[in-house]
Amino acid sequence: MTLALTTIAPKSQGARDFLAKRRKQILIGGAWRNGASASWFETADPATGEILAELCEGTVADVDEAVASARTALSSTAWKGLTPSQRGKLLWKIAELIDTHADELAELETLDQGKSFRTSRFAEIPASAEQFRYFGGFCTKILGTTIPTSISYQPAGKQIFAYTTREPVGVVAAITPWNSPLLMAAMKLAPALAAGCTVVLKPAEETSLTALRLGELMLEAGLPDGVVNIVTGFGEVVGAALTAHPDVDKVAFTGSTEVGKMIVAAAAGNLKKLTLELGGKSPAIILPDADMTLAIDGVARGIFSNSGQVCVAASRVYAHRSVCDAVVDRLSKAASALRLGHGLDPATDLGPLVNRRQADRVAAYVAEGQAEGANIASGGTQSGECGTFYAPTVVTAVRSEMRLMREEIFGPVVAVTPFDDVEEALTYANDSPYGLAGSIWTKDLSCAHRLAAQVKAGTIWINCHSYFSPELPKGGHRQSGWGYENGALGLENYLETKTVCALI
Ligand code: ADP
Repeated sequence: MTLALTTIAPKSQGARDFLAKRRKQILIGGAWRNGASASWFETADPATGEILAELCEGTVADVDEAVASARTALSSTAWKGLTPSQRGKLLWKIAELIDTHADELAELETLDQGKSFRTSRFAEIPASAEQFRYFGGFCTKILGTTIPTSISYQPAGKQIFAYTTREPVGVVAAITPWNSPLLMAAMKLAPALAAGCTVVLKPAEETSLTALRLGELMLEAGLPDGVVNIVTGFGEVVGAALTAHPDVDKVAFTGSTEVGKMIVAAAAGNLKKLTLELGGKSPAIILPDADMTLAIDGVARGIFSNSGQVCVAASRVYAHRSVCDAVVDRLSKAASALRLGHGLDPATDLGPLVNRRQADRVAAYVAEGQAEGANIASGGTQSGECGTFYAPTVVTAVRSEMRLMREEIFGPVVAVTPFDDVEEALTYANDSPYGLAGSIWTKDLSCAHRLAAQVKAGTIWINCHSYFSPELPKGGHRQSGWGYENGALGLENYLETKTVCALI
């Protein structure tokens, strides 16, 4: 497939104004400035290769300053002195500003990352606002407890009064990936700010634009100086410096399992608290009685949305043998019906992958699988002026030991495998180092709930896939991560408990 792509200019004045200033500075202590090295790197539209902006290449010195600024802000009157209600209102104000600027943020996200405008504008940008709204509500509900104790060795006539208080964990390093840039940043910033923490955010080097625009909006909302600092740059420099920094208390990371393991090692120096949302290879089990229309539509969305660059992507489908051929056929038709194009073209269903390297990586996985005996039922082609497009692809005859079945591809590629009974489906589903998510498709809800208990994963969907909301905890079992984002559990990651035990 050859795609003729021309540059599509954003419609919103906000996006145009933002892009008109080509060099994007970093945010430290409430001020935008150049980095210490005064080096810049380009960020491009993955569909056309057009350079969108130049980003500041952050250094260790920039990280030191950003962390120092976050540390100062942590105990500043301007931040610590806010009442919980004031903090909550500030988060809601940020949510409002994201909503007001949704067209502009969506256009910037699509230009920078590639995803369809529909996905940016109607899913991810509003979901980012909802993060601030949801966690803003917690600010006035962060409570300690009073604890009746059984201590019996106090002096005669004295009593024990014991209680807990909750405190912000401190300075947080938030490190985000390139698949859903603004949403991933919001999922860390919102609970961190609700808890009273301060943050140094390092967005992915491929997709930093919306994080930088959010930085401007947060200042406009009235966020005190230094509460959120943003340092762009490369993972091995800025990310590594943050994760090893002795004055960072916690790292909130979403990205690959490989980098997650590096962060665990780097964080050991001062035993930083960690939340890690890592890779996945999520199974979808389709039982013979499933509503096929629902299942095909849900699985197709589950694997092809955002061109498969989704940590919970339904990349392994296990279909009962009696329906497997139909599943392959219908998924292939669904794949072929998706229109590839520039994300800002309203007719586009799927945009490019984030860059050529990622598209080549996806193509290499499929080629290797083919060489090992896998069949391509549909797709399997790379295209576009920059080679960044990869057709939604359905593969069969993928054996469990192949890398195509074991590793996270992060592309629109699904392997469909038949099973004969539920036990076999479970064995297949659990045959993975990952445990992020999975879905079960059946009308037999008793069977679905029994299976849900046995699939090793942090989220199980029944008759749906990739359903998210800020109130639903999201995290990985096995090598898919530590801790949970979203929900009350998501806030816990940013809080410490202090027990006060008094003799009175
Ligand atoms: P992906 O494969 O999805 O890009 P990565 O795990 O490579 O995921 O990257 C996710 C984030 O982690 C990015 O912001 C990247 O810059 C950052 N990163 C990469 N290497 C390191 C590292 N050694 N230490 C800390 N952060 C890193």
